[in-house]
Amino acid sequence: MSQLLSRLSYQIRRRWFYGLISVIVSLGCIIGTPQPGQAIPWLDLIFRGIQVIQLSSLSDNQEVTLGGQINQQLLSQQFRRYTNSSINEYVDDIGQQLVPNSGRPDIPYTFQVVSDDQVNAFATMGGYVYVTTGLIKTADNESQLASVIAHEIGHISERHAVQQMRQRAIASGVASAAGLDRNTAVNIGVELAISRPNSRQDELEADAVGLETLRSAGYAPSGMVAFMEKLMGQGSVPTFLSTHPATDARIEALEAAIDPATANSGTGLDIAAYRNRISPLL
Ligand code: ZN
Repeated sequence: MSQLLSRLSYQIRRRWFYGLISVIVSLGCIIGTPQPGQAIPWLDLIFRGIQVIQLSSLSDNQEVTLGGQINQQLLSQQFRRYTNSSINEYVDDIGQQLVPNSGRPDIPYTFQVVSDDQVNAFATMGGYVYVTTGLIKTADNESQLASVIAHEIGHISERHAVQQMRQRAIASGVASAAGLDRNTAVNIGVELAISRPNSRQDELEADAVGLETLRSAGYAPSGMVAFMEKLMGQGSVPTFLSTHPATDARIEALEAAIDPATANSGTGLDIAAYRNRISPLL
């Protein structure tokens, strides 16, 4: 009996040992050559049961889960949700209409309204899009509001936040090119959602794919340019655009991509209907 037990325990230990070895080997493959000065206590992390995330091979499910955790943190610490249900339903309706026409229709999207008079919109990974009450009030019509939501969906479909997280994690030495622990990832995600360090290239890309999404969903493409021009013409450039660099270049690129003959073809240009839909805010 005791012999059997000791053999069993040997087998378990052996299995555990080989399991550990294979974890180390696979981590080694992912991490590649460790860089000097970058002391990542990988084994320590594994023993403490901390989940290590590999940003280079993040699956859709993992991205949505991570986005959900970032969203929770954003809503509990940074932003106050605007709770009026008809406004939230309206924004969600517009978003859900855009998603099937986007480059990434196969993940769930969550559209939320943030109570803030500043004109602002942002997104985090895994399908989370936010627009402020200030932005909804400033838009003249549904096409303009939809253009901003389509732009934010563009950031998600092009996986900009995941790339930024990866760069930020590597630059600050908290991870290798491939992995970091989940809590650190969530903290970086929150920071990125607030500071929106989108490069000029990211912005132009989100505009271009956003414009296609807007058009495919049946909205008049003119809304995207008109809203940017409106914000530019308001004297002080709102945070939304000042953190989204090179607005002139963006307007030029959009104008080049829109045929003036069909700029106003599509829905969402009815100003009175829009004001009616957002009346709880006015
Ligand atoms: Zn953007």
